[in-house]
Parts: sequence; structure tokens; C-alpha cells
Amino acid sequence: VKVKARQSLRFLLAGTMVLATVGCETKKPSPKPPASREQAAPPPKAPPTPPPDGPAQPPVVSAGCGALAADPVSQENGRTADMLAWRPFGRAESGWRTYAPRVAHEIGVDCPPESAGFAEALRAWQRSRGMPDDGRMGESVFLAMKARWQENRPFVRTSARGLCPAPPADDALETATPSEGYMGKVVQARAGALEAYRRMTAAAREEAPEIFSDPNALAIFSAFRSPESDAQRCARDGNCDGVRRATCSPHRTGLALDLYVGRAPGFGPDSSVDPNRLHQSQTPIYRWLVANAERFGFVNYPFEPWHWEWTGEAP
Ligand SMILES: [Zn+2]
Repeated sequence: VKVKARQSLRFLLAGTMVLATVGCETKKPSPKPPASREQAAPPPKAPPTPPPDGPAQPPVVSAGCGALAADPVSQENGRTADMLAWRPFGRAESGWRTYAPRVAHEIGVDCPPESAGFAEALRAWQRSRGMPDDGRMGESVFLAMKARWQENRPFVRTSARGLCPAPPADDALETATPSEGYMGKVVQARAGALEAYRRMTAAAREEAPEIFSDPNALAIFSAFRSPESDAQRCARDGNCDGVRRATCSPHRTGLALDLYVGRAPGFGPDSSVDPNRLHQSQTPIYRWLVANAERFGFVNYPFEPWHWEWTGEAP
């Protein structure tokens, strides 16, 4: 029964792509955002510009990943990771490397796309789901994974039922400390979400202190945003792209946190341009979150490496 329910939900989600891909926000400079993605409000006022991250790091290769590009399937995965022409979130993209850490986590390895270990793990994942086990990453495999990831977001499940959660009462919100806000920004979130965030950052400091060589690591640059302020910003800035994006952002729940995971030179921490998202997806901060955030109840909208939602309370 549970399996059937999940399948039904998957079909439901597949039929509501607009709802199933909602995330948070795009920041300039940015090309036209994907039509299928919800946009809530303009980003926070630009804080003082900190030095950007350095150049993107080469792929992390763990022991057990095997040779790189040593067989045709690994070679093809390496090529499509950079070249696949597709629209996984309604906007044309080239390659799937931005999603590679998430995909690798899904199939249970920490290996780059062009490794033998990646292809082998992908074959096992495909077999376990009755899919052709060719070890090749492509659109159909990704969409199956994406459906699972989106199902794990309570906000998306709620939206898929045609509902938009009411914002929490004022007294359910707590203000983060200045050191928790990005560049001292004042942000508010539900108390439970902030508490979980604090447990998560404490664990990161203990388990992966190297992450914090970047002093902005995991700082919150946006959290609760009231529907009213989102609507005002939409009207003022004309940056709404449809009513839903302006009226039902996950940020209205007080459960969504936009976390600093790095940024490419010249871009803000929430710029959705592809080079920025690719850069962010390869940072140690994001990779740690992919591997660990679930322990603290946080799930990610994969199009936006910075957008995390706490699942400890209903939206
Ligand atoms: Zn967000």
C-alpha cells in the first residue's frame, strides 16, 4: 500500500511540475529564470561584497571510485555531465555536473561522474528500481531521482495538493543571532528550524572544521518572508513570473533557510546562473550538507544549492 501511495504521489507530482519544482529566489545577474520554478521575492538587499571563492575545485575522488574515464560508460557519463542538452527544471541547461554530488549521494557513493565506481553504483540503483541497468546517467534517470527528492519536501507535497500553507504566527518565529545571518543580516525562522540549524552547524564545526575556513559558511541569507512582503516586492520590482511565485513561496512557512554554500566570482550567494550553481555544488560546504543535512531534518531543492527546508514541522 505504501509503495502504491508513493507511486500515486509520483504521478501526481509529475502532473504538477510547476508545483514540484518550486524553490526560492533568483538573484541578478541572472538570465530568465525557469518558468516552472516558483520565485518568491527579490533577494535581500545586497550586503557588502565579500571576497568570492577561488576557482572551482577538481572533482573529489574517494578511494573505491576506480579509474576515471577508463571505459565507454564512464567516458560517456563524463561527457554528458558537461554537455547533456536538457531542461531538468524548465530552463535549458548544459550537463548535469551541478547535480552530480546529489546523484552520487543518491546512489551511495562519493565518486565523480566519470569514474567506474559511479557507473557501477548507478547500475545497482537502476536494477533496484527495475530500470535498464546501463550505468548511464541521463534525463530519465535524473527525473526518477528528482521525483524522489521532491517527494521528500513537505512543502512540495502540500503544494501538489493545491494548498498554500499559511504563514506561522508571529510568536512562532525566532530571530537568528547576528552571527548566524549572512554579513550580519537579521533573519527570522520558526524556532524549531533555527534550533535544528544550530545543531547542524555545531556538528559541521566538529565534523568538518575545514568548511569554516570560509567565514560565511552556512550563514543564513534568507529565511522567513511574509506573503505580504513578497507580494509587495513582486509588485514593486515586477519580478514575479506568475502569481504562484509571488504568492506561495516556501519561505512563507518559516521553515526554509537559504544558506551560504559559496559563490562563484562575480555572483551573489543566491544567483541561479548556471556557472554559480555549478560552483556552489562542488564546494565542501554543499557536499557536507548533501551528506549530512538529512540527519538534522533538512532537505534541499536541488536546483538551488543554497535552499534548504526543515521537515520537523508541517508547513
Ligand atoms: Zn530559498
